[in-house]
Order: sequence, then structure tokens, then C-alpha cells
Amino acid sequence: MSNTQFDIVVCGGGITGAGVARDAALRGLRVALLEQRDFGSGTSSKSSKLIHGGLRYLQQGNFRLVFEGTSERAVQMKVAPHLVRPIPFLVPVYRGQSNGLATIDAGLWLYDALALFRVPRLHRTYRGERARALEPSLATDGLRGIVEYYDCLTDDARLVLENILDAKALGADVRSYTRVTELVRDRDGRVVAVRATDELTGAVDELATKTVVIAAGPWTDTLLPELQLGGQARLLRPTKGVHMVVDQARLPVTHAVTMFTRDKRAIFCLPWVERTVIGTTDTDEAGDPSEVAATRADIDYLCDAANQFFPAARITPADVIATWAGLRPLIGSEEGRASDVSREHQVITRPEGVVVVAGGKLTTYRLMAKETVDAAGRLLAATNGRQRIARCATRDRPLPGAQGLSETGEAAVVAVAREVERLAGVPARVATHLSQTYGRRAVEVARRGTSNPSLLERIDPDLPYVWAEVEHAVSEELARTIEDVLVRRIPLCLRSRNQGLAAAPRVADVLGAALGWSPEEARRQRDAYESYVRRTRQFAAAG
Ligand code: FAD
Repeated sequence: MSNTQFDIVVCGGGITGAGVARDAALRGLRVALLEQRDFGSGTSSKSSKLIHGGLRYLQQGNFRLVFEGTSERAVQMKVAPHLVRPIPFLVPVYRGQSNGLATIDAGLWLYDALALFRVPRLHRTYRGERARALEPSLATDGLRGIVEYYDCLTDDARLVLENILDAKALGADVRSYTRVTELVRDRDGRVVAVRATDELTGAVDELATKTVVIAAGPWTDTLLPELQLGGQARLLRPTKGVHMVVDQARLPVTHAVTMFTRDKRAIFCLPWVERTVIGTTDTDEAGDPSEVAATRADIDYLCDAANQFFPAARITPADVIATWAGLRPLIGSEEGRASDVSREHQVITRPEGVVVVAGGKLTTYRLMAKETVDAAGRLLAATNGRQRIARCATRDRPLPGAQGLSETGEAAVVAVAREVERLAGVPARVATHLSQTYGRRAVEVARRGTSNPSLLERIDPDLPYVWAEVEHAVSEELARTIEDVLVRRIPLCLRSRNQGLAAAPRVADVLGAALGWSPEEARRQRDAYESYVRRTRQFAAAG
């Protein structure tokens, strides 16, 4: 049994739990966070990777959600300029579309206004030749015009990781591959400890705590009855979302494109330098969140959407390099279309000393975390006679990669890239990638290569990732399996033509040396990674 008595034990290390742990640690509380697999391995690494107000929520009249989203977008651009970067989005408008150019333009005035006009550039409308020149591979037949606006692209798994690393730096006890199995109660039914199992070693631990936060995303509905927190009533309506990745040369876009499809949904086509991402689907899904994968029907749907807007590309499932699929932990009932279910969040305080947080978006995680820690603070005050807890301080504290930056915004990221280029003599593309991924810590990663230049060689000749990042992932970023490294720290699984399979043996060597793997364990780990990759490609077998 661990000796510390915690103020809060957080169950779940997605963006919500990671945000809660960081917020609470920053307020001086004693915090532990337990995640059953890798940090961010649930929905939080399967999103569209946008920090946005959500243009679609305007259509639904949910102005509050848009306001929250655009406000948080401004905060994230400030506290993590390396990870949350503005990019231009285009909305092409065609003859016969239910929302015409004037309606979209008016909607975007509202979007800019709800952001209090704090946007990199106000939206603009283009017509005729100027519209056609913006993104030449878009369909021109019936094109009435294009509206350009700005939102932000991020790396969702890294956003989780930076919250985890900061929570750890602030004193939180963060553990991956540790599954919460039971809540221990006193005679009055109050929770006094959490029992958990290390999924890699089988060791069982008990953590004494005054409160528990459940941030289990799409696992919430199965976990609450398992932990004897309420009956079978469902809180969530989980919906599945799939993305697919194709080579940039097959669909060469330089802007993000928001495509309002025939079935009145918004699908994104996102530029990812060497690749292009298309997503997402939105369908009800009752299955196990750990098993969710892209089906042939999902991929056909995304190919159809892409071909409606980019007919010359003729994208087929054979073009798909990689896929990812996740479940949205949406709060809602069975009524209505899956894609119309609200993206709002809910914080529920329970008398046993437990706070449950569910729903929401990646974009609003900081706000969700604040409300959750406030609720846990009220429980601590009511039941443990503790003074009121400190105020939330995450609005102004930079995430780890942004700590120590000499400039703000894009200029800061460019300055670090230049320093890395000078220090390590790497190509500009590699330096930019390191700077956008690690922020100020890119210098630390590059330094690994100054004594051993082979660490600055690319892992995959097409992509800017270098071997020094693998060492860094293992020694500094809490990676414990090949999947942790190749899916979430250095996402070759999502970008490389061989999905990182070629790099897996050397990654296993680095991990094995650090974690003391036997040859059998290394083999088992490689098999596990191959089977992960197979699941992301099962749509191809179905075809
Ligand atoms: P999760 O990330 O799933 O985390 C829950 C964690 O709890 C998991 O890691 C799980 O392993 C862990 N857990 C469960 N049971 C236990 C246990 N017993 N013990 C320990 N740990 C446990 N939002 C945006 O803002 N922008 C977007 O562009 C966007 N796009 C999206 C696209 C798709 C396809 C999807 C599916 C979602 C998208 N979202 C987006 C929403 C956003 O991704 C989610 O709201 C968010 O990631 C949910 O985070 P979470 O931490 O609540 O859940």
C-alpha cells in the first residue's frame, strides 16, 4: 500500500484526467492519476486534432459551446504555441447547397464575434477565379465561392502528455498501465482508498485518498457499475469517429477544407505536410472502446466524401496509408441523429466523495478540469474540514514545451527551429518538426545527436522523425511499449507507409534496454504492435 494520503486520485489518463491532475497539482493538492493503458491511448489520441470553436455547433444554435471553444482556443494558443497552431480553413459553397454563401459568411461573422475577434485573421469570402485558385484540386462545378476562416490544429496525444508531464513536475504521482479495479469504502460508505492493478507486472496497490475523480471517457458507463457507483442507467451515447490518411500527392491540399456533405455533416480534409487526413464519421457504437476500428463501410463513406469535393483525386481504399478510430464520450440519450448529440460536458458530484466528469471536447479540457477540481475542492471542504482550495491557475501557466520560450506565438516556434538547425545541423523540415513537437525541449532532443550523430538520422526517409526522439520518449516521456512510442510519441503508425513496422525492432531494443526486457518479452511486444497495426488495417481485409 502506498504511504501517501492523496487529496484526489484521478481514474483515467485521457485529456480530461490529465487536465484534472495538472490543475489539482498546480493548486497544491496531493494527486495521483491512474491510467489503465498509455496516457492518451483512449479517445484523446483519436480526435480530429482540432482546437476549435466548432463551426457546426453554430448551425445547431449552440452559441455557448462556440464561445467556450473559441475562448479556450485563445488560451491554448498562448500556453502551448508549439502544439496549438492556427491554420486557414476553407468552406467551399456550391449551387443548390442548403446554406448559401451569404449564410456561411454571416455565420462566420458570428464565429469571429464569439471569439471576441481574437483570431489570427478575420474570415474572408472569395469568388470566381480567386476562389478557384485557393485550392485548385477542389471541384469547380457549381462553385459559388469559398469562405476562409482560422482554427487551430494540434497533436492530441502530445497535449495529453504535456499535461501529464507538467502534473508530474508539480508533484503528482502519475502511473500508466495501472487499472482502477475497486473503490474501498468506510462504514458510512465514503470512499477512502482506490485499489489498482499494474497491467504490465500484475502488482496490486491501494492508494488512500479523500476524493476520487472518474474521467474514464467512453469507459464511464461500464466503469461506474463496476465500481458500484450507481446502477445501470446510461450517462453516455458513444459515437464512433474514423479518420483515414492518404499521401499528400494523392490529395494535395495546403489549407484545411471543411466539407458540408450531402448528408449535412461537416467533414474535414486536413493538410499534414507529407500526408492528408480525411475525417470523420459519426455513428452510434455500443462496442468495447478498446476494440473500435475503421470498417470498410467507414472508409468507403470517407472516400465518397473526399471524391465529392475533390473529384479528380479519385481516392479509393487502396490509397489509405493508415486509419484511426475512437469513441466520442458524448452525454445524451438515444434520440436524434448521432452527429447532432451535444458536445457539452457534465460534472457530477456524488456523496461517496466521488466526482464524475464526462462529455466535452479536447478543446475545452482545461475548463472541464477547472470545474472538476472546483467540485472536488468543495467535497474536500465539506467532508474533511479542509480550507477552500486555491484558485485554478492553468489559464496562464505554459505547458512544458512552452516554458522558457523567449518569444510568443509562431515567432517562438520559429526561433527554436532556427536554434535546433544551428545546433544539430539538421534539415529545416526536421528542425521545424522538432520545434513544433517539443517546443523549447526540442533543443534537448537535438542535443542527444551532438554526441551521437546517428541519432539525428531519419527513422523513415519520407518523414522528419529522428532516432533521438525514441530515446527521449523512453527516458523522458513515460513510454513503456512499442505502441506508446510509435502511435502516440512519434506517430509513424499514422503517417509512415509501413506504419512503423520497419522501425519496431530497433524501438524494441531501446525500450528493452531501458526496461530490462527479456528476448521473449521483446518478441511479445513486437507481436502486440503488429496486431495493433493489423486492427487499423482490418478495413482492407474486408474489401
Ligand atoms: P479518453 O481519452 O477516452 O480517456 C479516458 C481514459 O480512461 C482512457 O485512456 C482509458 O484507458 C481510461 N480508463 C478507463 N477505465 C479505466 C480504469 N478502470 N482505470 C484506469 N483508467 C481507465 N474534440 C475536439 O475538441 N476537437 C476535435 O477535433 C475532436 N475531434 C474528435 C474526433 C473524433 C473521431 C472523436 C472520437 C472525438 C473528437 N473530439 C474532438 C472529442 C475529444 O477527443 C474527446 O472529447 C476527448 O478526447 C475525451 O477525453 P477523455 O479524457 O474524456 O476520454
